[in-house]
Amino acid sequence: MYDRMGVSGRVSLAALLLSAISAAPMACRSDASDASTPPEAATARIVCSFAPMYLFARNIIGDTPNVEVEMLLPAAQGCPHDYELSVRDARRLARADVLIVHGGIERFDEATVRRINPRIRWIEARTACDRLASGKGDLAQRAEDPAEHEHGPHEPEVNPHAWVSPRQAARQVRMIGDALAAYYPAHAGTVRANTQSYATRLEALAAEMSKAASRFRHHRVIASHDVFDYLARDLGLTVVATIARSAHEEPSAAHLAEVVRAARDQGVRAILCAIGDDRRLADRVAAEAGSRVIELDPVSTTSGRAATDDYERRMRRNLNVMLEALQ
Ligand SMILES: [Zn+2]
Repeated sequence: MYDRMGVSGRVSLAALLLSAISAAPMACRSDASDASTPPEAATARIVCSFAPMYLFARNIIGDTPNVEVEMLLPAAQGCPHDYELSVRDARRLARADVLIVHGGIERFDEATVRRINPRIRWIEARTACDRLASGKGDLAQRAEDPAEHEHGPHEPEVNPHAWVSPRQAARQVRMIGDALAAYYPAHAGTVRANTQSYATRLEALAAEMSKAASRFRHHRVIASHDVFDYLARDLGLTVVATIARSAHEEPSAAHLAEVVRAARDQGVRAILCAIGDDRRLADRVAAEAGSRVIELDPVSTTSGRAATDDYERRMRRNLNVMLEALQ
């Protein structure tokens, strides 16, 4: 499985490189250029892989003049486990100074991006985080599960959903802020102040959520995939099983039966279904297990015009949904 994807990856990379090279002169404001010599842009360009990285970077950059922050993936993409870079993405990467990724969850790696733009600064937010084992709540067959090798190009054993924890998100923000302050010394003062302010807000959010979670009377949950492991740990919840290993994987009937059995045996009160995951599967498990489904938002999507406190507002909504179901 992995080898087959490797081959197709190389084929599509060739197409991406061609498109990036042909795009660079069009992207250049002044003179001709190619992908190996990115245009000297008056504006600093920060590209973020997907929604949480985009929200974090916008808070860090704030109103800093002449810095553009863009989101690479489509706004509604959700968890980018299966997302392949498009020709349009390659063009944007060819023009960027910096790429901020979460790491582990994006399908593309640093080597691929460097072949599109050798000068790009790669910032990998998850390096600031704790490393939870992936699929901790999964019940069976992990060793021989081909999806294990499919989950991402980096260290597939590490759960790649750290941003869903406000506590880990704050660490990511501090790490990204440090990297951007070093990369753009002219903006370092503003970037450091914004970083401090936003990371402090996220730390306050984490504390608020942990405190509220002390009111939970039910602590065993099932999740639609392993997206909530870091958040669950913050809140003292145990994910006893996951319905699927990723948003795009169909679980087997045997696995679903095991999930139902685990839910019954362990008195699971709620199935945490990530928005964007298959709600019908969660409903089926809940109906058979005598449990209920609650929809939580992993903040893996956002609108380009979202308010800068989007992450915090959506996490507080998650908290209220959990308080209602688990108290
Ligand atoms: Zn995911």
